[in-house]
Amino acid sequence: MTEFPQRRQRVASALASHKLEALLVSSSASIRYLTGYVGSNGLVLITPAEAHFFTDPRYATEAQQSIDCTVHVCKKPLIEEASAVVKRKRLKNLGFESTWMQVDTYDRLHKALGAGCKLDPVNGIVEELRAVKSTEEIAKIRASVLVNSLAFEKTLRRIKRGTREMDIAAELDFQMRMAGAEKPAFETIVASGPRTALPHAHPTSKQVLEGELLLIDMGAMLDGYASDMTRMAFLGKPNKRMQSLYKAVLEAQLAGVAAVKAGVAAGTVDAAAREVLKRHELDQAFVHSTGHGLGLEIHEGPRVAKKQTDKLKAGMVITIEPGAYIEGLGGVRIEDTVLVTETGCEILTPTSKDLVLL
Ligand code: ZN
Ligand code: ZN
Repeated sequence: MTEFPQRRQRVASALASHKLEALLVSSSASIRYLTGYVGSNGLVLITPAEAHFFTDPRYATEAQQSIDCTVHVCKKPLIEEASAVVKRKRLKNLGFESTWMQVDTYDRLHKALGAGCKLDPVNGIVEELRAVKSTEEIAKIRASVLVNSLAFEKTLRRIKRGTREMDIAAELDFQMRMAGAEKPAFETIVASGPRTALPHAHPTSKQVLEGELLLIDMGAMLDGYASDMTRMAFLGKPNKRMQSLYKAVLEAQLAGVAAVKAGVAAGTVDAAAREVLKRHELDQAFVHSTGHGLGLEIHEGPRVAKKQTDKLKAGMVITIEPGAYIEGLGGVRIEDTVLVTETGCEILTPTSKDLVLL
């Protein structure tokens, strides 16, 4: 028994509170969440009593065998067939995801439906449900996290003075795929020396050298689910300033993790990490938010950021990843994937948070 019918039922139940007769789902992650479809051309229409799935003939066999909705295999653009269903059902309004629908698709939809059906831009209906993970989803994220950490550990052993950032990134990607991942969850970040001060550095041909910091931010995509981890290494013996920078960020990360609990506002977790860095006069060097949810996408709800009043719920999976970046010197970020529980959180990432000395 899959979870898809239950998930679609939850969307159907949410329609009334948004005063919607139906919702057209365009986000590919949400389509996967609601149907299991992993192809590149799908559309889902949910009404209180029905679920329709639209795709093109390339996916006909797969869809007819595995998708438990009314499947429409369309020769025309999917949106035209979806519009025809909406018209047949004489729906007076239709919600659509303005974040995800292309303008061109919207134009076609608008034209096909005419004045009889009002189009309501709505966002976040499916995303809100996706933020709280089921037991099955948590198991998949756990597996993704383990594959990610395994790839990290295997790669660490191969790093030498003179290895290029891009070769380390390639090795990390290779190792995660050999361990079963479909692909990296995002472009693997490897930065060394002063380049660690760039929070989202792309790996380059720069070699990692004695006396340099090394930042690795990586995530695996396994069975559709993402993981995310950042760890730091140092080639040689770090000086006092490096050590204290590392210790301050680690202290902030631990404070963030300690603040996580169901019922706590996401902004409170962010503030806990930020407060520690402020005490170390590093708050100006912390230029991003503390974390984000992850699941079918590497970045999804909730946002663990300044002033976020949304409360964390048990079953959410989030990252805690404060950092401090000092131009010319370097940057430090430490990131775990954690599961929110009623009493606090479980850190899913098994990798040690000690600064790795190479
Ligand atoms: Zn990351
Ligand atoms: Zn992250």
